[in-house]
Amino acid sequence: ANALVLEDLTKTYANGFVALKGISLEVKEGDFFALLGPNGAGKSTTLGIVSSLVNKTSGQVKIFGFDLETQTADAKKMLGVVPQEFNFNAFEKVIDIVVTQAGYYGIPKQKATERAEFYLRKLGLWEKKNQSARMLSGGMKRRLMIARALVHEPKLLILDEPTAGVDIELRRSMWEFLREINAQGTSIILTTHYLEEAESLCRNIAIIDKGKIIENTSMRSLLLKL
Ligand code: ADP
Ligand code: ADP
Repeated sequence: ANALVLEDLTKTYANGFVALKGISLEVKEGDFFALLGPNGAGKSTTLGIVSSLVNKTSGQVKIFGFDLETQTADAKKMLGVVPQEFNFNAFEKVIDIVVTQAGYYGIPKQKATERAEFYLRKLGLWEKKNQSARMLSGGMKRRLMIARALVHEPKLLILDEPTAGVDIELRRSMWEFLREINAQGTSIILTTHYLEEAESLCRNIAIIDKGKIIENTSMRSLLLKL
């Protein structure tokens, strides 16, 4: 099965800028996949469309076989999203941010609270659970968004530059965590401009440049070419 299929995706922003010129891609279930490319290539736009944060101009998105346009609710249930920008209510308490998210998926309060505890503990945020999110460091805010993205146990997790601005020690522990949930069966797609990050984590990659895919291969064959 495919976790994600993109078919001829295009995006022209309102100002006329053509950010995606026809992106087609398959990511297999269970994969750990990196979308690589220079700044401005179209990585965030691509993930933004998959996460319904950006409207596509044309093309098709399927998440575990569900068409994002016509089977939106089913498609979205499969997906957890960690965007690049912090987009939670910074005045809300850490635990509430995660529990509230679970509510959007109809998860009962008790279950939501258990899962929030599980993921906040896993991500080293449990001692901060009653703090206002604005009190967290940048790395903690990033981990809070990961806990929030996982609370409904999605089959596909997508992360936009998950370790940008995170120090090397924390980066390694986040990598460890992502490897663990991938090993437990969650498919993962991330964008990064650190080759080292993709090399350490990912089995397959696509390189996007100026709105087009210029390479789509295994991490191993990419490294042999470099
Ligand atoms: P959409 O076509 O998805 O509706 P818009 O073109 O309306 O998106 O832009 C969405 C937001 O992004 C606007 O607030 C706009 O100011 C901002 N924006 C505009 N240009 C850029 C850019 N080059 N990079 C990032 N954000 C931008
Ligand atoms: P990446 O994630 O690879 O750095 P993006 O997808 O963020 O690239 O951006 C691709 C291109 O689209 C860039 O040139 C960016 O300036 C432009 N862009 C992004 N958002 C907008 C927007 N809302 N309006 C106009 N241009 C945008």
